Amino acid sequence: MNAIQDKLLSLSHDIGREERRLAILGEGNTSADLGDGTFLVKASGSSLSTLQPGDLTRVNMATALEALDDPSIGDPEVRRILESSRTDSSAKLPSVETFMHAICLSEGGAKWVGHCHAESVLAILASQHGAQPFLNHLFPDAIVVCGRHVAVVPYIDPGLELARGVRRALQGHREAHGIPPKVVLLENHGPVALGASPVEVLNILLMLDKWARILGQTLAMGGPRFLPEAVSDRIDTRPDEHHRRAQIAQTN
Ligand SMILES: [Zn+2]
Repeated sequence: MNAIQDKLLSLSHDIGREERRLAILGEGNTSADLGDGTFLVKASGSSLSTLQPGDLTRVNMATALEALDDPSIGDPEVRRILESSRTDSSAKLPSVETFMHAICLSEGGAKWVGHCHAESVLAILASQHGAQPFLNHLFPDAIVVCGRHVAVVPYIDPGLELARGVRRALQGHREAHGIPPKVVLLENHGPVALGASPVEVLNILLMLDKWARILGQTLAMGGPRFLPEAVSDRIDTRPDEHHRRAQIAQTN
């Protein structure tokens, strides 16, 4: 667990770096699957940029998922469930977005998850366009790193209901495309990156940030000229792009 904890702290610090403008103050959260029915998640109220070992709380996956499955459980019970989900009752209260992490680490097939409120992405998600501009691609690298399709969740207050919305979006994506997404866009809120490694999570968020900045610029320059669907499909399935994808995930 210590190696995973160290990697999760370093991923959190990377996401929280002030100049990256992905998260400030207590924004955003991270998690990692420990592979034994528990996961580590950022504690409520802590800051990604300065996260310490004591700011990561180990949580029972089943406890978080059971709350999602029980429609009688609503936000008033959330604090009690978050308290009881801890493997160590002296640990800090896990983030209210713990339920969303549980879904991404189970239904979403991720091993590592990073969620932030990236300024560039939020500028578009909170605009009149919402997530719509992200439904088509502009350049090959975003397809390689962020995946062919993103999942979208309309605005829902953070907590149990948001996690249920993320679960519906992940299920819809799997039904439509046969695989889980690498990116879930929460409208008027921010992105979630689902990765097999901490490097992949950071790469997804950095590429998504670039994608959003380019989108913003094209929207100011007469509008984006999207790649045709067939071109995006081909880039997604080209063997050399698969090779590049594997290399990026290993070396960055
Ligand atoms: Zn958030």
